[in-house]
Amino acid sequence: MLSYQHAFHAGNLADVHKHALLATALARLTGKPKPLSYIETHAGRGLYNLRAEAALKTGEAEVGIVRALSSGWLPQDHPLREALAAIRAQHGPDSYPGSPLIAAHFLRPQDAAHLAELHPAEQAALAEVAGFARLHHQDGFAMANALIPPTPRRGMLLVDPSYEVKPDYDRMSDWITRMARKWNVGVIALWYPVLTDDRHRPMVGALAATHPQALRSEVRFPPARPGHGMVGSGMFVINPPYGLDTEADRLAALYAGL
Ligand code: SAM
Repeated sequence: MLSYQHAFHAGNLADVHKHALLATALARLTGKPKPLSYIETHAGRGLYNLRAEAALKTGEAEVGIVRALSSGWLPQDHPLREALAAIRAQHGPDSYPGSPLIAAHFLRPQDAAHLAELHPAEQAALAEVAGFARLHHQDGFAMANALIPPTPRRGMLLVDPSYEVKPDYDRMSDWITRMARKWNVGVIALWYPVLTDDRHRPMVGALAATHPQALRSEVRFPPARPGHGMVGSGMFVINPPYGLDTEADRLAALYAGL
């Protein structure tokens, strides 16, 4: 179990979609002075090197964030562009932030952050860069369940599983709905892959039926390798911050041109 390592995929087209929405949401939420909670169930290692062997092996970042930047996908004042610039100023030009470090860029001293990661090597790497947050070396679903509703009450939950086992899809809709009921003011964001075999569809259909007001942002892109099953990226956001739908539309138009 836990064979997934995000280092092979960091900065790919799915990350650009997910991280552009995450950064936009957090920029919006931290635009108000009131404190907030940021909770992430599947944090990963937080910081990636796009020249590392794993990244070069797949080449996914090259057609992801590298091409997005050179094609002008992220305007100078885009929140992800700003977070990326800050991370690169600190960690070098080949670095790429995972979601925890994107969050760190926006969070303020008055905010609370909780990150869960189960893989020991990922945990150890995360601990090196995530001094701003409380780290939980446990199942992310259990952590979130125990924390929600959090203090401070405003805030955001990001659920970004690696979907290594089918039950990840089967149980997700009910679990997300339980969290949304416990935390009715929370921004709850679930990332999912768009797959050629439609395995994600029942989960997304159930979520959309239960949360008709939620934002469903889906983009499509060519598979990383011929025959690879992932052909797109989805974010389902309950209680999306104001303006996130505009960013979702902007991203959809960009990806449609691929
Ligand atoms: N959110 C990260 C980002 O955007 O930079 C990427 C996370 S990666 C897709 C998923 C991570 O979840 C992996 O590092 C994996 O080790 C971890 N993981 C898998 N199952 C988990 C669980 N039940 N609880 C917490 N972490 C888990």
